[in-house]
Amino acid sequence: MKIIEPAEMKDFTSFKVGGKAEKLVICDCEEDLATVLNILAVEKRDFILIGNGSNTLFTDEGYKGTVVKLGDFFAQMKCEGSKIIAGASALMSKVSGFAIENRLTGFEFASGIPGSLGGAIFMNAGAYGGQMEDIVESVRVISKDGESFRTIYKDELDFGYRHSVIQDTGEVAVEITLGLEKGKREEIEERVAELTEKRNSKQPLAYPSCGSFFKRPEGYFAGKLIEDAGLRGVSVGGAQVSEKHCGFLINKGDATAKDVLALKKLVQDTVYEKFGVRLEPEVRIIGE
Ligand SMILES: Cc1cc2nc3c(=O)[nH]c(=O)nc-3n(C[C@H](O)[C@H](O)[C@H](O)COP(=O)(O)OP(=O)(O)OC[C@H]3O[C@@H](n4cnc5c(N)ncnc54)[C@H](O)[C@@H]3O)c2cc1C
Repeated sequence: MKIIEPAEMKDFTSFKVGGKAEKLVICDCEEDLATVLNILAVEKRDFILIGNGSNTLFTDEGYKGTVVKLGDFFAQMKCEGSKIIAGASALMSKVSGFAIENRLTGFEFASGIPGSLGGAIFMNAGAYGGQMEDIVESVRVISKDGESFRTIYKDELDFGYRHSVIQDTGEVAVEITLGLEKGKREEIEERVAELTEKRNSKQPLAYPSCGSFFKRPEGYFAGKLIEDAGLRGVSVGGAQVSEKHCGFLINKGDATAKDVLALKKLVQDTVYEKFGVRLEPEVRIIGE
């Protein structure tokens, strides 16, 4: 187990903004994780969990509590027939590579989504017509007080748009079973390359961000509403509505969380005034 006290959360999140957390605990086995969660529950301390921090923004004031992160032990993967069983801290890019090595198809849509498998399950992350719910068979979780483990099967995961049941229960995903299909290595690699190319050409990947900042409002696309509201390239301090993809708020290099949150509000207010649509953040904002 590794403890960093205090921890600069900009070093652990893809937006590269925000203040310090009182404590960051990186757990390197299930026993450590259970013990840490148990202590936090018994002492009634505030805590949050992060995966790879690709969808999480900490305010400049930081977080008065403990941030828990799963370490490398939870990044192990194995293949059983056409299933991949992977730890929750395995990166999506690594899972994609592992699927290719094992000639398994079905994960291609998710290959370029930054972050961990656990974060992707929590968010029911999706891209290019696929979502995690299409390929998840079950998720092994630990209760938020660290007392018990259980396996949640697909039907009980209550997947919806950027939603899964662990958002409601506060359980921590430790291991995920993905149901894929046998395929041809060249075809899988070709599809992954095609989607990577699409992502590279459409997204401002040279700048820190959390991807699409807002959820897709029903019947609209957030990026299109933001563009039509005339906000392309608009900045507050070091935060900017990406010129390449208006759904992305980016850090031009020296943004603070305050800049990002002021830009978020400007975008929300302008889009609401022009189109009567309230944009809600997809990004998890901690400390607001
Ligand atoms: C450039 C860029 C492009 C992106 N493109 C996409 C895209 O195409 N599609 C998409 O859906 N998203 C996209 N995102 C957003 C992000 O990659 C996803 O939301 C991703 O699934 C977050 O994973 P993470 O591990 O980084 O999560 P984090 O930001 O660390 O955490 C997100 C939430 O998940 C919870 N969580 C994390 N791990 C666990 C766990 N083991 N158990 C329980 N809860 C957990 C956290 O508590 C937090 O509430 C993009 C982000 C970036 C920066």
